[in-house]
This record gives sequence, C-alpha cells and structure tokens, in this order.
Amino acid sequence: MREPGEPTRRFVLSPAWKLGLVAGFVTQLLLILFVTFIGLAAMNTSEQRLMTITQQHLHKLQLSKAMVFLARERTLNLFKALHAEDMFERDALYLEFTQMANRFVTARSELLTLPLTPQERRLLDEQRELTRHAVPIQEEVMQLARDEKLAAARKLLMAEAIPAQNAVLDVLSRLDEAARGSTQEAIASAEQAYAAARFWMYSLCGAALLIGIVVAAIVIAYTNRAGREREHMATHDALTGLPNRLLLMGRLEQAVARALRHKFLVGVMFIDLDRFKLVNDTLGHAAGDELIRQVAERLSGTVRSEDIVARLGGDEFVVVVTDADKVGQIIHVVDKVTEAVTRTYQIAGREIFVTCSIGISLCPNDGTTANDLLQHADTAMYHAKESGRNRYQMFDAEMNARVAQRLHLETDLRQGIARGEFQPYYQPQINLETQRIHVVEALMRWHHPTRGTMEPGSYLDLLEETGTIVELGRRLLLEACTQCAQWHAEGHTELAVAINLSGKEFWQADLVEFVEQALVQTKLPAQGLHLELTETILMQDIDQAVAKIQQFKQMGVRVAVDDFGTGYSSLAHLKHFPVDTLKIDRFFIKDIQNQPIDAAITRAIISLSESLGLDTVVEGVEDPQQLEALRKLGCRVVQGYLIGRPLPGKDIGAILGQDWTHTLGPDH
Ligand code: C2E
Ligand code: CA
Ligand code: CA
Repeated sequence: MREPGEPTRRFVLSPAWKLGLVAGFVTQLLLILFVTFIGLAAMNTSEQRLMTITQQHLHKLQLSKAMVFLARERTLNLFKALHAEDMFERDALYLEFTQMANRFVTARSELLTLPLTPQERRLLDEQRELTRHAVPIQEEVMQLARDEKLAAARKLLMAEAIPAQNAVLDVLSRLDEAARGSTQEAIASAEQAYAAARFWMYSLCGAALLIGIVVAAIVIAYTNRAGREREHMATHDALTGLPNRLLLMGRLEQAVARALRHKFLVGVMFIDLDRFKLVNDTLGHAAGDELIRQVAERLSGTVRSEDIVARLGGDEFVVVVTDADKVGQIIHVVDKVTEAVTRTYQIAGREIFVTCSIGISLCPNDGTTANDLLQHADTAMYHAKESGRNRYQMFDAEMNARVAQRLHLETDLRQGIARGEFQPYYQPQINLETQRIHVVEALMRWHHPTRGTMEPGSYLDLLEETGTIVELGRRLLLEACTQCAQWHAEGHTELAVAINLSGKEFWQADLVEFVEQALVQTKLPAQGLHLELTETILMQDIDQAVAKIQQFKQMGVRVAVDDFGTGYSSLAHLKHFPVDTLKIDRFFIKDIQNQPIDAAITRAIISLSESLGLDTVVEGVEDPQQLEALRKLGCRVVQGYLIGRPLPGKDIGAILGQDWTHTLGPDH
C-alpha cells in the first residue's frame, strides 16, 4: 500500500548559490559603473589639462613673437627717426618708440606669469641684461636725432645701438624657438596623457564587459542545467528515476489517442507489492527503498522500450502495454511482470521474497481516457488484494460498485461509533492444568442495523487507516475494564481481560497514561488487564516499544505477543521484549495432527518461551484432536471455538466459575 512518509527530493536553488549570483551581478554592475566613472573623470581632466596647456603655450608663443616683433620695430623706428624730414615727424616716431618699449615690457611681464622652462627663464634673464645695456644707447641715439645732431646719431646707431639691439634680438629669437619647442613638447605630453587615459578607460570597460559576459554565460549555463534538472525532477521519481504520475498521464494520453486511431489495445497494469509495509517496518526504510529500486529495475527490464513503466509512489507501479493487438499479448506481459517481481531479492544480506497484486484495465473496453483507465486499474488491483493478494485481476464494471461500497462503509463506521453500535465480546482461555478460565480476550463486534453482528475482519483495516480505531479502541477498553471489575466484584478475582491494540493505538503518545487512568476509573487492579500486540508493531521501533512495555510492566499490566510466528521478526528478537506471554498463531495449529513440521515448530516455540520464562497460549483450537496434540506438546493454555466462541459479557458471566474437566477431558 501507499507509504505516507515517502521522501521526495525536490530541486531547489541553494541559498548560497542565490547569494553568489546576486553578489556576482551587483559586483559586476558596480565594477562597470566605477570603471566608467573613473575613466570618464580621467579623460575629462586630461582633456582639460590638454586644453589649458595648449592655450598657455600658444599664449607664450604669441608673447615671445610679440617681443621679437617689438624689438625689431624699435630699431626700425630709430632708423626712421634719423631719416625723418621734420621735427614733428621725429617727435611722433619718438612717441611710438617709447610706446613700443612699454608694450614690450607688458608682454615680457605677462610672459613671466606663465609656466616657463628653466631654459626660457635663463634666456629671459639674459635678454634683460642685454636690454639694460641696449636701451640707454637707443635713448641716446634718439636724443641726438631730436637735437638735430644727425651725423653723431647715425654713427652711434651703427656703431653701438644696432649691435646691442641685435644681441637682444638674437636672445629673443632663441627664446621664441625655445617657446615653440616647449609648446610642442607640452602638447605632445598632454596628448599622450589623454591617449593613455582613453586607453585605460577602454581597456577597463572592455574588461568589465568581458567579466559581465563570462558571468552571464555561467549564469545562463547554470540556469539551463537547473531548469533541465527541475523538469526531470518534476516528471520523474527521485528514488527509481522512473516517470512519475505526471509524465505517466501525459504518455498514457498519447498512447490512448494512438490506439483509438489505429484500433489497437492499450493495457494499464496497476502493480502494488503485497505487505510492503512489513518489509519497511521490520527491515527498515533503507531496505524498503532498495527493494523498490530493484523492483523498478526488473519492471523496466521486462517490457518493450515503447511500453511505459512508472512509479506512483510508495510501492505502487504502473506498466502500460501500448499498441497491442490481442488481450493475450497483454496477459503475457502481466505473467512476465509477475515472474520478474516475485523472483527472490538480495537485500541487506538477506533473501527477500515478495508477491504483488496487479489490477488491469484495457483501452477501449474499460475507458478511453488516461484518468479512467488508471482509476479502473487501481480498482481492479484493490480487488486483487481483497481476494487474497498475489494475483492479477481484470477490471469489470461491478468493481466500481464495490469501491462505492467501501466509501459507504466508512460513513457507516463513523455513524456506528457515534451511535454506540460497537461492543466487546469475550472469548475464554482455558488453563489446562486448572481446567478453569483465567483470561478472556475482548474482541470487538459491530451490531450493524441492517447487516447484523459483524466481526472486525471486514472493517478493521478501514478503522486503522482512518485513525478512528484510537477513539473506538479506548471506548471498548473502558467498557471491558468495567466489565472485568464487575466480575471481580462477583468473586472472580483471578480473572483478567485481554485487550488487542493495533499499531495506531499502541503508538499513541499518551497510551500509558490513558491505561493508568482507565484502571483507576474502573477500579480494576492492574493484574486484571492484559494487552496484546503483534510482533510487527514491536518491530517498528524496538527501543520505544521496549520502553513502553516496561512502563506497563511496572504498573502490573501484562503484555502478550499476538499472532506469534507470522511476522518477519525472528525468535532472536524475543529476548529483547519484556513480554509475559506468547500467543501462537492459529496457522500452526490448523493442521497440527497431520503436519509434523507444524507440530515441531509449535513444540520449539513452547520450549523456547518456557526457557525465557514466558507463558504460551495457543489460539484457534477447534477440535478435540488438536487439543489432544497440543496437550502432548506440553501446551498449558488454549483458546478457540472448541472452548467457546466470543460472547457478550452477560453470557460469559455464567461460565466463568465452571470446571472444564468434564467438557475437555482430564489432563493427563
Ligand atoms: P486476534 O487477536 O488473533 O483474535 C482472534 C481471532 O480469531 C478472533 O477473530 C476470534 O474470533 C478468532 N477465533 C477465535 N477462536 C477461533 C477458532 O477456533 N477458529 C477460528 N477460525 N477463529 C477463531 P475476530 O474477533 O474476527 O478478530 C479478528 C482480529 O481483529 C483479532 O485477531 C484482532 O487482531 C483484531 N481485533 C478484534 N477486536 C479488536 C479490538 O477491540 N481492537 C483491536 N485493535 N483489534 C481487535
Ligand atoms: Ca488477540
Ligand atoms: Ca491472534
């Protein structure tokens, strides 16, 4: 049946990955922004620097040129003054001569404010010295001319003024040259700086872009892979890798459409392992998982590649046989599947043998949609289970009615509990040594309004599945304790009532407290209560079970292992459980007169439990021959139809004190 605690592995992007991706993107963005900002700023400054430097140097060049020009003009002015016709013209030229001196001084001092190279400074210093020497001579020449001493003026001009001025001009033209050179250099270096800034800006931006592309490529590759993985996980079962229900339905839909077009048959097999829960509970979940994996492998290996094998969860598988011509072909696959699944498994060093129940529905006979076909196969499987497991069952329309019945039963059960239609019956156990009843087992009966009194076999599973067993079981326990306390009051103080506990009931966290309270409330001494548990329940969690049983023992409540010999637990486990009694299952007694092996097993169990200090009770004793055989095996306590069927409390009261020697014959 379906396992509720089935682990599902779903794909999730780990928080570390998410954080990494976001951090990567943010860093990338900041990097690009930073680089762009720095690059733009650097380019801007170097461009501005380039402009300033260019302007400054061009200005410098202009000034040095102006100085050369003015110095030349002044000499020319002197010449003109010497050859001028009249006084006025000479005065005008003199004015011009002094103005040019002023302009020269202005240009020079402006030049000094600009950034100058050491060479330029040296040349300017040299020029100042030479000018300081040349100017008084020029002034003297001009004065002589104004005084009409032209011959003397000309002589002075030619002999001293012009050579002195030439020396100045020579320095100035060197200055001009130097200024030109430094300008060119400055512009070139500024251009170089600008080019370098541009280079870094482009390379850093390029690098940032490259990192961006790499990051993006990684992210895309990752998300693609993650997407594919997620899709696979959404459509496949994590444990076996088989398609899950989602994918199965899609493919089944396609197979049905194809079959309807080409007049083929499709067979849907719903496969459920029998008693898988037992494997899980007794051998552990890891072994259960391993079994499921091996079954999946065998199923996949059995069918054709165009057929579908899927796992629905738990121990439920579906095999779809597509494009079949005849029903026989599908049944052939069913046989192959059964053969494959039921072969022995090697799991955790043990040999395991499992059977399966298979339900089959056919398209188009039983349905023409994937949903109907799967549901009908499920229904048929349920019937295969109901009719004894380890078989296959074809769907037929009547089955739906039976499913409806089950639903009906569930409603009925709830109503029945609410209306108090449940009651414990009691079945006696006889001690063959004393020939008296010491224990009665409480067995629930349902007085159904239309179906009469019903035994639990037909509804116990449903009670357990729906969890209603807990509430009902507690009510019956209280009633049985009250009844037993009453028998004690009537004088049967040695009598105990045995209560059956299902797994759900036993594993309730407050069971011990509840039992304790029930005893206080009903005033039944603890020895008056026995609890019966199956070995399967105990094997579910040995440590916890032992702890719980220990608590009951401390209270004085005795515990019995029910149906002993039918579970997966071995005799070796027995010594771990602090139980008082073993109830040997009816299965070994059924044919005990004719089956020496059953007799041998029963004898072994009886002697083992004796050596462990346990009592044994044999269930299901139906005829005197069985009783005789059991007596010979040393069996002391028996229960069964031979002694008495389960009866209502009032009927049991009448036989409680009875001596059974007469009925059962004397102990030998
Ligand atoms: P069990 O604990 O093994 O109880 C013995 C079953 O065998 C009872 O079936 C009883 O009527 C039947 N039986 C007794 N003597 C013979 C015999 O000589 N031959 C045959 N063929 N059968 C015999 P019943 O009453 O139908 O109960 C079936 C199972 O339901 C019980 O098996 C027990 O596990 C469970 N059950 C019954 N009452 C309760 C209950 O109140 N609570 C819980 N949790 N389980 C219960
Ligand atoms: Ca029992
Ligand atoms: Ca039993």
